[in-house]
Amino acid sequence: MSNVTISVRFRPLNSSERRGYDDAICFQALDAKSFWFTDEKEDDVLFCFDKVFYPDCGQADVYEFLAMPIIGDAMNGINGTIITYGQTGAGKTYSMEGPNIFDCDEHDKGLLQRVVDGLLESLKSSTDMAKCTLKLSMVEIYMDKIRDLFDLSKDNLQIKQGKNQEMYISGATEISISNALEAMRSLSGIANRAVGETQMNLASSRSHCLYIFLVQRESVTDGRMRTGKIVLVDLAGSEKVEKTGAGGRILDEAKKINKSLSSLGNVINALTTGKTSHIPYRDSKLTRILRDALGGNSRTALLCCCSPSPSNASESLSTLRFGTRAKLIKTPLIAIAS
Ligand code: ADP
Repeated sequence: MSNVTISVRFRPLNSSERRGYDDAICFQALDAKSFWFTDEKEDDVLFCFDKVFYPDCGQADVYEFLAMPIIGDAMNGINGTIITYGQTGAGKTYSMEGPNIFDCDEHDKGLLQRVVDGLLESLKSSTDMAKCTLKLSMVEIYMDKIRDLFDLSKDNLQIKQGKNQEMYISGATEISISNALEAMRSLSGIANRAVGETQMNLASSRSHCLYIFLVQRESVTDGRMRTGKIVLVDLAGSEKVEKTGAGGRILDEAKKINKSLSSLGNVINALTTGKTSHIPYRDSKLTRILRDALGGNSRTALLCCCSPSPSNASESLSTLRFGTRAKLIKTPLIAIAS
């Protein structure tokens, strides 16, 4: 059994896709885990995942499946990671932050706000707790440098290894959170995230963004302090460089993004062999940070975000193939820390 869960989310068609392709979609749902995918250039392909979120699925469905088990584990000292992957415009940031992080109604809230609520709720209702803290750091990997979104003067943070061999970002600002309003204020760091304009999407994200929650809870029963880390990763767009219509700085950014995403693909490929030696984590900052999530004592949920339109079929197909490879990761199911 694996502790890596792979899901797919198809967002609703947008207006330009509707105009261009007459409401056509590139998949045919079979059930909650599988669908046929149609690409004009290839035969239909059958895909199966742990879960498929079709366009009518809401944000709460995604949260319940992906994040709720991870929150429960974090309270028991087990780390969890949720990663959104896909081309620009496929719905990664919508799934993570909702349509507008600062102003969205309950129904539209993304994983980020729901994880804050879920963690605060779990801490409030925990009966076996002497004291607790919840902290948040926010960084982005931009042009292969790690930048602190709470303090932009820290623009080249380094990854270090802790005493339990865990990877952490040294010097990243940690903000304590005790209520949801405070958390929302902290999240204003998102406004610092690097975005550029490409032909794919006017506000496509050109960086990988990581939200790192650290929850510490001291048990009344045994006096032990349990520390759980939840990392939410909103990856930069996975589209091919030539499709972005990029040149100059944007082209450099796109090359860096493609390089780190292919390192992620290489790490996933290596992990699917089941051998733990020679996993190329060191090839990029992204894979070094995600080392614990993909190969260690952590539960990981990968959400592959796709456009439902035939106009984006080849990018969606490559996202789905990425997810299919990740499904083969062989890491043993972690033991619950006691
Ligand atoms: P990405 O982060 O992958 O570049 P976005 O999350 O910014 O893409 O999504 C692109 C657009 O599609 C945004 O306007 C977003 O609000 C909308 N969108 C994405 N997913 C959904 C969804 N499931 N339901 C409604 N709108 C969505």
